[in-house]
Amino acid sequence: MAELSKYTRAKVQPHLTGIKPYDPSFTPTRINLSANENTYPLPKGVRAAVDKALAATPLNRYPDPMANDLRDKLAALHGVERENICVGNGGDELLFNFLLAFGGEGRRMLNFPPSFSEYEFFASLTKTSVRNVRRDRKTFAIDERATLAAAPQASLAILTSPNNPTGDVADPAFVAQLCRQCGGPVMIDEAYIEFADQGKSMQSLLSSCPNLVILHTLSKAFGAAGIRCGYVIAAPDIIDVFGAVRQIYSVNVLTQAAAGALVSERDAFEPVVAQIRSERERLARKLEEDERLTVWPSQGNFLLVRMDEASTIRQRLRDEYSILVRDFSDVPSLNDCLRITVGTPEENDELLAVLAVLLDEEA
Ligand SMILES: *Cc1c(COP(=O)(O)O)cnc(C)c1O
Repeated sequence: MAELSKYTRAKVQPHLTGIKPYDPSFTPTRINLSANENTYPLPKGVRAAVDKALAATPLNRYPDPMANDLRDKLAALHGVERENICVGNGGDELLFNFLLAFGGEGRRMLNFPPSFSEYEFFASLTKTSVRNVRRDRKTFAIDERATLAAAPQASLAILTSPNNPTGDVADPAFVAQLCRQCGGPVMIDEAYIEFADQGKSMQSLLSSCPNLVILHTLSKAFGAAGIRCGYVIAAPDIIDVFGAVRQIYSVNVLTQAAAGALVSERDAFEPVVAQIRSERERLARKLEEDERLTVWPSQGNFLLVRMDEASTIRQRLRDEYSILVRDFSDVPSLNDCLRITVGTPEENDELLAVLAVLLDEEA
């Protein structure tokens, strides 16, 4: 909402007049490594399975509001019950609903920047105040003492693991402590958990932490950002709240059908995820060889990289080579940082070659 007319400014809710929509900085490019999508082709046979499910889906009937068939598949995948799962129109809808239900005026969200900027955006939409516990400027480690001190006054907390854009994972002992101390539900955003080492998910804490909520999405490892499907896992009474506040038909029939097929084909994604993990390590090693660059270790499908003239380099990558990466250089403590999604070997090679040229030219 940049240039409101006088009339509109007077009519819109006061807390919304200054709000800036989330800007994914999208421009059509030849090589898009900017949004942490899975850039690999779908595994063999998966697209056919999705197409078959879509073709068998009638369009004249409203969707099953709670997407129970999909819930059952997701429950089986995670070893929980249907009652532990709520599906949303992307993880984003569930994040918004989390703030809508547990935030609001007079409530406070515990946030750990630098992280996913949507959390603060949804907090502002819902008039939720934000208590930022900043990560260490160099390592991005969480300030555990400050967090636990602030937790009792928080109405909710959102912690990203692996964190976007810094790539680090949270420590389970700390998350358990945070759940015990926090004055409300604690969401662990595991949008990238499939790319992390085994055993990094906080799911095993669910039985001992009744206020823990885990967020997942099909947008990243499952290569399905376009269908808009995410889900939360939590205790049944928290799921009931998600079920109550949601837009009743937000997950459409085609998304439910496609997501069901993708989840059934999950094993086919294992080799893709393994290749992205190994490409991540190769890309990180190659970038680290250049002493002009700082690269942080990452458990996601992206790398945070610091370099001089980051903004200029990002712009030249886009305008001269049609390669898109994400610029974080104007975010506090991410000065001079770009986030690069791990692509296919060919995409990564091209990025490495062009980046070397641009770094020489801008030196
Ligand atoms: C991508 C992402 C999500 C979910 O995205 P959707 O496409 O809305 O499912 C959630 N959290 C983080 C940190 C992400 O990067």
